[in-house]
Amino acid sequence: MKKKETIFDFENTYNKLPESFYSPIAPTEVKMPEYLIINEDLCQALNLDLEAIKSKEGLEILSGNQVEEGSMPLAQAYAGHQFGHFTMLGDGRAILLGEIYDKNQLKVDLQLKASGPTPYSRRGDGRGTLRAMLREYIISEAMVGLKIPTTRSLAVVKTGQPVYRERPEKGGLLVRIASSHLRVGTFEYALNFTSKEDLKVLADYALERHYPAYKDSKNPYLGLLKAVIRRQASLIAKWQSVGFIHGVMNTDNMAISGETIDYGPCAFMDAYHLKTVFSSIDHQGRYAYGNQPYIGGWNLSRFAETLIPLIDEDYDKAKQMAQEEIENLHLLFQASYFKYMTKKIGIFNHTKEDESLILKLLQIMEDTGADYTNTFRALSLDDESDPLFSSPKFKAWKIFWHERLNKQGQSDQAVKDLMQASNPAVIPRNHKVEQALDAVDQGDNRLMNKLLGYLKNPFDYQVDYGDYENPMPPSQMPYRTYCGT
Ligand code: AMP
Ligand code: MG
Repeated sequence: MKKKETIFDFENTYNKLPESFYSPIAPTEVKMPEYLIINEDLCQALNLDLEAIKSKEGLEILSGNQVEEGSMPLAQAYAGHQFGHFTMLGDGRAILLGEIYDKNQLKVDLQLKASGPTPYSRRGDGRGTLRAMLREYIISEAMVGLKIPTTRSLAVVKTGQPVYRERPEKGGLLVRIASSHLRVGTFEYALNFTSKEDLKVLADYALERHYPAYKDSKNPYLGLLKAVIRRQASLIAKWQSVGFIHGVMNTDNMAISGETIDYGPCAFMDAYHLKTVFSSIDHQGRYAYGNQPYIGGWNLSRFAETLIPLIDEDYDKAKQMAQEEIENLHLLFQASYFKYMTKKIGIFNHTKEDESLILKLLQIMEDTGADYTNTFRALSLDDESDPLFSSPKFKAWKIFWHERLNKQGQSDQAVKDLMQASNPAVIPRNHKVEQALDAVDQGDNRLMNKLLGYLKNPFDYQVDYGDYENPMPPSQMPYRTYCGT
């Protein structure tokens, strides 16, 4: 076998797009880089040599102090609707080092986040706090455990330099892996700031990377729209099923690949309520838990608009075709959502009638302020000690539920297995994440490692998670999350 001369073997296909789509820029050096954490599982999945990553040279590359041969670093241009308002954006604090291949020969981006300013930084410093970078690492890896498509985190590097937010904080840098960083906002950028030819080049690139099956279809761009709608419908349904609130579903934070991207103000819901919001800037609840499917639709409508010029020469005809796909979204979302939700109550093959069983249970949870995760976990364990289960409404619901389960002719064990495989026993509780971040700030990594250990297999009912199962104590509420930290 040929000895690898470089650690990463980068490809740089993004640089082959028209120049308006990116700005070549190298990361800015940091003084005293040191790894906080390296994701060994991911190293393996990417066929990377862990020892090489750990080496001085590996650290130099992943801290942005050295550009490896073969890497052509760049910041991507994109625009986006932020809280409904259209703006020019771009990677203000992220730099793509290049693309590499995983064990299955799938191409992924390797990007440094918080690696210094770029031409798109506006007034930002291009940096990030160690806490925010580690928070993304923890939550994105929790999503992997929950089997939800996501960008991943290969490492967090301590920069050894302070960043100035409300007060000086420790600086950090995240090494992010994504199947690409193409966003709805990249297409909005192309439509508004480049030519139709360039828009087509971008769409062809997205098809090639994510949906090659549509490349030779009758209408590849309608195919692209269809495929992205399908992936996003499924993704958002998965978020809903575990109570994940993204928090900043701006169009620049919606990936064409269908992966969850941009872990800023996201958080998991404790008590079930459709209006749940954690983000400190989301005053209207635009990105509240219950709104996510609708905002997904709104964002995908913006995506559809960007593809209209490519779908057909005849504007009205193209618009009509795109609209039909968008109208389909609601059905696709509902189908995915009820598929995942009915599995949570042990139904193998759901029918339309089962939807009301789910909606009634959620209503009881909302009325009683029940904890979302723990209710489903208790159902999966047949543990009736939870106060919810003594409520008359729940008892009435349970009769209908058991009748339904009895009809499907599955053993109790099979039902239990399905439920335990569909309901996480543990999630990254917000206060537990904060506790781990506080400890790391003090130089103690033990809580971080313990939390990450639990989140790796959140469906394992054999583990005693102790107080990691408990919702946030009322004394620590309300919990608030922040963007751009
Ligand atoms: P986000 O809310 O993370 O999606 O970020 C929105 C935009 O702000 C993106 O263009 C980011 O690159 C940019 N941005 C966020 N934080 C910073 C920062 N510290 N320095 C420069 N740009 C930033
Ligand atoms: Mg973003």
